[in-house]
Amino acid sequence: MSNESIPAVGIDLGTTFSVVARLDDQGRPVTLVNAEGDHLTPSVVLFDREEIIVGKEALKALATEAERCAECSKRDVGHRVFHKVLEGKQYPPEVIEAFILNKLRQDAIQQIGPFSKVVITVPAYFDEVRRKATQDAGYMAGLEVMDIINEPTAAAVAFGFQQGFLSRTTSSDEPQHVLVYDLGGGTFDVTVMEIRGTQFIALATDGDVRLGGYDWDQRLVDLVAERFMREHLCDPREDPRAAGKLWRECEDAKRTLSVRQKVVIPCEYRGMVSQVEITRQQFEEATQDLLDRTRFTTVQTLKAAGLDWSEVDRILLVGGSTRMPAVRNMLQQISGKTPDSSVAADEAVAHGAALHAGLLIAQQEGRPATFTIRNVNSHSLGVVGIDPLTKRRRNGILIPRNTPLPVKRRRVFRTHKDGQRSILVQIVEGESPSADDCTPVGRCSVRNLPPGLPARYPVVVSFNYEPNGRLKVRVRLPQTHHMVETEIVRENSLSKEHLDGWRQYICGLPPTDYR
Ligand code: AMP
Repeated sequence: MSNESIPAVGIDLGTTFSVVARLDDQGRPVTLVNAEGDHLTPSVVLFDREEIIVGKEALKALATEAERCAECSKRDVGHRVFHKVLEGKQYPPEVIEAFILNKLRQDAIQQIGPFSKVVITVPAYFDEVRRKATQDAGYMAGLEVMDIINEPTAAAVAFGFQQGFLSRTTSSDEPQHVLVYDLGGGTFDVTVMEIRGTQFIALATDGDVRLGGYDWDQRLVDLVAERFMREHLCDPREDPRAAGKLWRECEDAKRTLSVRQKVVIPCEYRGMVSQVEITRQQFEEATQDLLDRTRFTTVQTLKAAGLDWSEVDRILLVGGSTRMPAVRNMLQQISGKTPDSSVAADEAVAHGAALHAGLLIAQQEGRPATFTIRNVNSHSLGVVGIDPLTKRRRNGILIPRNTPLPVKRRRVFRTHKDGQRSILVQIVEGESPSADDCTPVGRCSVRNLPPGLPARYPVVVSFNYEPNGRLKVRVRLPQTHHMVETEIVRENSLSKEHLDGWRQYICGLPPTDYR
């Protein structure tokens, strides 16, 4: 992987912070600094009339101009629009992500020269809709997203590199089971990996795309605000500016509580000031249920991987929020093992992504792969059918969760009536038997069936999950030469025209044939 002609770049597009890494001449991952000289770029965008500012300055502005700032946009990815109206406009969340990626791209160019090929990481628990939206964000930011890779897998690859696994050629190494516990700013992921020499195999994955350090911050904000209210009979959370300022103070105090037993948090509103003392114990009590949610998911995932704690060789801590002592204590208590924080919690994911980018570039240049990754799907994939008895919409699961990828499944649909020319297939992801409780991925209409087909004519639809968790759908009519092309009409997805328009606006680059 040395002497890359094309830089191998990996991007950890985080909920609260983002990190860019590349491989150096020796094939080692290094974190790039941004234009401000920092390794971590806050994933915050300030919309200041015509000016769009990303990163540290936008984060600062959150305390004084919260109404113009977009923070935690990753949490909204998959929804049609960001939850806040910014300067009178409603932006799709992936557009906000694209502004962040564009800043990361421009800052990286300053150091390594022009590049466009990248690997971007996503939480393992991201569904297909969110994965596609993340790829779209990359396109709008002028990047060529070679692949998306799950964050815990990337962390495990970085760990494997650090342990020297990637430079070994032998496959006789004893398999190691690594449980990656990844608690970031806005998402929680847990993945059980098997590392066999240079093979990284995900056995099971689970998580919560709306659980992260941000929720711990919120609890601290509530604790402080309630104390303030008792003293001054008014709530600082009702004013966006006071709330924004308090949030920043609390995020800072939370970090202090990771190393100290108590902290004093200033809170100011309508000219009144309180100095609120919070102990680590009070903070831990107020957030116990959040931690319990991660514990429950961790235990379930281990079970899904078919392992017990005695078979886990390492518990790898990833994500800034694993610095909270309560996380480490909880894992130690349930596993009887000391969690490993030997990979840099904030940078490991970007490093793993850069290693994966290096691998892809090497393959494109005809060099052999130094390691392989095998993923599982994080959500069951199903098609919507109508229950003949209850007439309710049912989720007919085709590919259960935690199936090794890539995977292909076929399903035969039948026409209802003579001469039918089209069929509509609705695709969902989720575990519930009721389709209405699942996430719609999209609709796939099979049009232009040949004329004159009898009723109940079979139409074979194949669903292909690619190694990166993205879905492709193909349709075939057996016993005829008729090929039916189809595309998924995605829920909440931007059209190619919109993507091109945003790409031009955000980074000034012309469209490509990206789909
Ligand atoms: P990541 O997305 O992995 O960069 O994680 C960012 C999250 O980690 C944010 O919610 C931070 O507040 C949190 N974080 C970073 N450092 C600490 C710390 N020392 N103690 C507690 N939380 C932290």
